[in-house]
Amino acid sequence: MTRFSLVAAALVLSSVHLQAQPADLVIANARVIDVRTGRVTPGQSIVMRGDTIVAVTDRARAARFRGARTVDAGARFVIPGLWDMHVHFGGGDTLIAENRSLLPLYPAHGIVAVRDAAGDLSESVLAWRDSIAAGTLDGPRIFTSGPKIEGIKSIWPGDIEVETRAGVDSALDRLEAMRVDFVKITDNTLTPDLFRYALGAVRARGLKSSAHIPAAVPVREAIMLGLGSIEHLSYAVRAGAEHEGRVASGDLFANFDTATAMATYRLMAERGTAITPTLNISRTLAWLDTDNHANDPYLRYIGPGLRNTYQWRVERAAVADAAAIERRHRMYDFTSARLPMLQAAGVTILAGTDAGFLNSFDYPGIGLHDELQLLVRAGLTPLTALQAATINGARFLGRDARHGTIEVGRAADLVLLDRNPLVDITATRGIAAVVLRGRYRDRTALDAMLRETAERVARMPIPGK
Ligand SMILES: [Zn+2]
Repeated sequence: MTRFSLVAAALVLSSVHLQAQPADLVIANARVIDVRTGRVTPGQSIVMRGDTIVAVTDRARAARFRGARTVDAGARFVIPGLWDMHVHFGGGDTLIAENRSLLPLYPAHGIVAVRDAAGDLSESVLAWRDSIAAGTLDGPRIFTSGPKIEGIKSIWPGDIEVETRAGVDSALDRLEAMRVDFVKITDNTLTPDLFRYALGAVRARGLKSSAHIPAAVPVREAIMLGLGSIEHLSYAVRAGAEHEGRVASGDLFANFDTATAMATYRLMAERGTAITPTLNISRTLAWLDTDNHANDPYLRYIGPGLRNTYQWRVERAAVADAAAIERRHRMYDFTSARLPMLQAAGVTILAGTDAGFLNSFDYPGIGLHDELQLLVRAGLTPLTALQAATINGARFLGRDARHGTIEVGRAADLVLLDRNPLVDITATRGIAAVVLRGRYRDRTALDAMLRETAERVARMPIPGK
C-alpha cells in the first residue's frame, strides 16, 4: 500500500468515526443486569435501532450513536423483558374481547412474551400472535401450543381429542399446519399408551412438548421419552414417590424419598426437561379459605365474563372441609420446598403463572411478580428466579439467540427498575419504564395502559344480563 493510500484510508476511517450512526432509542446511565451471571455493570448506554439492540456500551463509546430519543435511566437497573411461561386464553367465544383486553396487562407489567399453554380460543390466539409479530396489534409476543392433545371427552374445552396413534399423527399434522410454537399434552382422558406415543412423535418432528403426566406413566419415563417441560411442581413430588420404577401411589408425602427425587431431578437436568412450578395458582387456590379476593383492586382489569369463570375454583374450594383445607396448605408448603432440590440438580426452571380464565385471582400481568416472589420464598436465589423469567423461557422456545439477555443483536425488550432485583426480588414490581420491540413507555404511559384497560372492562357487558 502506498503512503498516499494509507493516509486516505486513515481519513476514511476517522470520518466513519466522526459520523454519528443513527439510532432510534438510547437508554443512558443504566445499571445493566446480566441475567446469566448476575453481574451488574453501571454507567451503560443501551443503544437500539428499530426492535434490536445495536450496542451496550459506556458513555464515551455511545457518543458515536445519535439517538432519535435518549432517555437518562438515572442509574436505574435494567433487566431483559420478562416472560410468563404459562398463561391461558379461553372461556368460550363470547369472551374473545375480554381475553384480548388482557394483552396490555402484560407489557404494562414488564412482560414482553407469554407462552400460552392452551385453551379454547386457539384461532384467536394464533391470529393475535401473528398480528403482534407483524406490529398491527399491541401486546406481548405470544408463543402458543394451539389446542392441546387429549383423550376422548376430556373435561377441557377446545382440545384435539385422540383415541388412536393415527389420531395423534393427524393432530400433530394439524398443529404443524397452525405453526404452533410447542405441543401441549394433558392427561384427563388420554390413555398412557397414547401419551407415550405422542411424546415420541412430537420429538421425532423436532417440536417441543409440555405436559401433565398421566398417573400410570412414571415421571422418569416421560423424561426419557423427551418431554420438554413438566407443567406444575406437583410432579416433582410424585417423582420422589416412584421407587424402583414403581408408579407413585398412596400418600405422596409419606412415600417421598429424597434420593429417588434427586435422581429423577438430575435426569431432568441431563435430558433438558424443564419445569414450570406455577406456584402462584397453587398458593392462591390453597388459601382461598382465608384470603378473600372479592375486593382485589386488580379485578378492575379483568372482564366480567372472565371473573365469572373464577367461580368454578371458588365453589370447588368452598365445599372442602377443614381436613382438606389443612391438607392443601401442607401440600403447598411441602411441594414448594422441593424447589431448591430442583435448582441444586440443575433443572431448568420456567416462571409461569397459569393466569387466565378459570384460575381464580391468579392475575395476568402482576401474577408473574407474585410468582417470582413465591419462587424466592420457596428457596430460589433472586438470580435463579430472574433467569426463570427471562433467558430460560427464550432458551426453551429456541429463541435465545434473539431474546432473554441484554446484548448486541438481541430484541429491544427491556424493563427499567428503581431497585436491584438481585437484592430483593420484589424490586421487579417497581417498574419505571418498559421497552417492547424498541418502543419506550415510561411510568405515565404504562399507567395510561392500565387505566384504559380498566375503562374498557367497565364498559363490558355482563354476560347473561
Ligand atoms: Zn395451565
